[in-house]
Amino acid sequence: MVTPAIIAPRTMLVLGLWVVLLCGTACRLAPARETPRTLAGPWKFQPGDDLAWAAPDADDRTWTTLQVPKSWGRQGFHEVYGLAWYRTRVAVPWPSTEPIALALGKIDSAYEVYVGGRRLGGVGQLPPSPVMEYDRHRIYVVPASTREPDGSIVIALRVWRAEGKSAGAAGPVEGPFEVGPIGPILERDKLAEAAQLAVVLLFVGVAVFHLGLRLLRPEAAAYGWFGLLALESALYAFLRTQWKYMVFDDFVMLKKVEHLMIYLVPVTFLQFLWVFFGRPVPRGVRMLQAGLLAGGALALLAPGLDTALALLPGVQVAAFTAAGAGTVFVMPFIRAGDPEARLLGLGALAVVLTIGSDFLIERNFYVAPRTVIYGFAVLVFGMSLALANRFHRVLADADSLRRDLEQRVESRTQELSAAYSRMEELALRDGLTGLLNRRAMQDRARAGLAQARRRRAPFALAMIDVDHFKAINDTYGHASGDQVLGHVARVLSGALRASDDVGRWGGEEFLVLLPDADGAEAEGAAERLREQIAATVFHADTHTIAVTVSIGVAVLDGPRLETTGLDVLIRVADAALYHAKAQGRNRVVVSG
Ligand code: GH3
Ligand code: MG
Ligand code: MG
Repeated sequence: MVTPAIIAPRTMLVLGLWVVLLCGTACRLAPARETPRTLAGPWKFQPGDDLAWAAPDADDRTWTTLQVPKSWGRQGFHEVYGLAWYRTRVAVPWPSTEPIALALGKIDSAYEVYVGGRRLGGVGQLPPSPVMEYDRHRIYVVPASTREPDGSIVIALRVWRAEGKSAGAAGPVEGPFEVGPIGPILERDKLAEAAQLAVVLLFVGVAVFHLGLRLLRPEAAAYGWFGLLALESALYAFLRTQWKYMVFDDFVMLKKVEHLMIYLVPVTFLQFLWVFFGRPVPRGVRMLQAGLLAGGALALLAPGLDTALALLPGVQVAAFTAAGAGTVFVMPFIRAGDPEARLLGLGALAVVLTIGSDFLIERNFYVAPRTVIYGFAVLVFGMSLALANRFHRVLADADSLRRDLEQRVESRTQELSAAYSRMEELALRDGLTGLLNRRAMQDRARAGLAQARRRRAPFALAMIDVDHFKAINDTYGHASGDQVLGHVARVLSGALRASDDVGRWGGEEFLVLLPDADGAEAEGAAERLREQIAATVFHADTHTIAVTVSIGVAVLDGPRLETTGLDVLIRVADAALYHAKAQGRNRVVVSG
């Protein structure tokens, strides 16, 4: 049975776009007044090192012009390692009473910043004892004394690029590069990554929910893997923001954990996919997972960042391979029209596209905000919906099973009660004639007598015995005798009122109950029966047989109704029957 998905992939796509749009808008809600000035654009650049280049009036006319933010390795200087300088002059239109600040994004691998020839600070440490640190946005207060007489400032960056860094990792590469009044600068800094933090919190919520479900229901393994994936995505997304430094201010350690997530996410993703579709994880995928885990452990445990950085291209290839393997695995399910596979495929596509985009940004092919966490967001929520859809379907199946079961119980109950009625009926009937049997007649007679007593109405019964029946058996055979008994039974029940019960008392004896009949009426009824039997010609096999009956009638009324029991009444009828036989048969005797 196919149950439709409760949320279609298209709806989910539209919702996702709305979330991204809203987040994007929120990030751009910086106050309109006193908008900071961007420092992104052309700067002067010179490889080498001379502290005199910090001075505002240093001569940089012969320097090259490079774009900021963008790696110098991607702008024709990929061989430049060690120290290099950037300079720019910007007008600051705000009054000198207005305190201004400088916001600098990611500058690889470490730097110092000078304004008006004064060193304001930096991130990491420069040679001779360099310390790499390239992932910290920082805000510097610009002292009023550093302003030039014409109202401008001269900013100089002294930047160090570590040996072994890729072409994409050299100098100012990413993040905010701005100058402006302190207030707006700080506000923008806080808002810039608010959306990311919100996504992180949502991931955590999703993770907690699914891990909790896994704890409650051990059979829901897919939920557990999915919760873990959401948790890893949350941690990775968090480590991509500047908020991480508020929790743990150790650049190298944070970077290592961030790298570790790049190993763990594909491992968990693959595990989830195979468990979700209920297939055993194939050998090749197991090996990929093992390789990724080993690489992650190495990146985490090796001292310093060098190992992690050296392994990075490898893990990126492995992550793409994992995404490819997942896609190949899910494809047949998508083609078969599985709504959950479609949601997962959409999420995986979003992740692959955003990872690809970030990969190019990382290598400084172009400058743009990183998007992988939005890719993860699509995946995580796609999976949430897929799991919700599956849950819905399981419930629907359970529902139909329950209905099915109820129906079966119902029809079984009906069959049983029908069988019971048939059995009850059989227990009351005589097999040969179909009339009520002796036991049933006793019950009816007892009930009839009780009712007659309540209503103070007369009550009669007639005992009927076929005459010389032994002779019929002897003459025509026992089988013919049986047929005659059946015919006699039919004539008796046809001749009586519906309210009069007739039954087979035994052998060739029948009992008729005549409620409300007084002596005369009972005699009349018995006479009618006798006449009809005598007037009927019975056919048994090829024979035509004439039969007569003798009838003894017993009547109860008046005070005797209360004092006489059924046994006595039947004995009286028997006695009357005996008299009828004695008087020559084929007659009715009423006991008075
Ligand atoms: P009477 O007029 O005095 O009643 O003579 P009778 O021959 O009818 O009386 P008796 O009691 O001597 O014989 C009854 C016979 O009915 C004996 C028995 O073989 C026969 N009989 C009893 N039950 C059945 C039955 O179910 N089928 C057949 N074919 N015969 C039966
Ligand atoms: Mg008899
Ligand atoms: Mg008889």
